[in-house]
Amino acid sequence: MTLIDTHAHLDFHQFDADRPAVLERARSAGVELLVNVGADLASSRRAVKLAEQYEPIFAAVGMHPHDAVKLDGATLAELRDLAQQTKVVAVGEIGLDFYRDLSPRDVQRRAFQAQLAWAAKLGKPVIIHDRDAHAEIIEILADWAAELSDSPLAGRLGVLHTFSGDAAMAERAIDLGFYISLSGPVTYPNARKLPDIVRALPLERLLVETDCPFLAPHPHRGKRNEPAYVRLVAERIAELKSMSFDDLATATTANARRLFRFETQGSTSDVYQTATSSAPRTLNAKHPTRNSKRK
Ligand SMILES: [Zn+2]
Repeated sequence: MTLIDTHAHLDFHQFDADRPAVLERARSAGVELLVNVGADLASSRRAVKLAEQYEPIFAAVGMHPHDAVKLDGATLAELRDLAQQTKVVAVGEIGLDFYRDLSPRDVQRRAFQAQLAWAAKLGKPVIIHDRDAHAEIIEILADWAAELSDSPLAGRLGVLHTFSGDAAMAERAIDLGFYISLSGPVTYPNARKLPDIVRALPLERLLVETDCPFLAPHPHRGKRNEPAYVRLVAERIAELKSMSFDDLATATTANARRLFRFETQGSTSDVYQTATSSAPRTLNAKHPTRNSKRK
């Protein structure tokens, strides 16, 4: 039994003091691989660096809608360079956030479109952040999917992470070729819509994630989240879908592999060893204050 945490921010300063121990706990919990997702240029650089250091870590690079104002030509060019690294499996996280509105909406739209176009050229799936922008997200993704109907990316266009839409939106996204990923909120005892959505979701399109350090699942809600807790998310989904945890884990892990096509060299038995023992274990968070807002 293994799990893949498809959305983590282990580069954030919240993990500077104990990153190796966090990874060890992830391994003990059955987490085989994780995708460390970039949120701006600095964190995308750190994501790539972590992927170089630690075998079970893969990276995504991109500009979060919160920071869309920072996506100028030079930044996009540098993100493109970073994305050439072999362990970069996706462009993300990108999207729209009309809840916080930290960048003006037209700027968010332009940054989102620019990065979708770039992901298509690169041939990599996208990791979508959507908060209070459901209709517009689907509209933009539908146009993008139509352009890619004959591309090798068709059917594995990306994932809607920490899904917060309704069942109809999930169905539409899946029809377009996206996966749906769930995190801590599905475990909250007061979750209202999510349990029904989960029951209706086709197993072959479902992923699990933590979005750590944010959104810790029950009973750790409000504390720092970490990849080991993806197990709590998976256990809850198995319960909601009335299936065994092992079957749920096997299916979601296969889904993540189909979407991201992780390429690992050598055996996986020692993937938790640092890839380069001389590499520094602690990374400096360049903008620690930024990390307090949920990505
Ligand atoms: Zn995130």
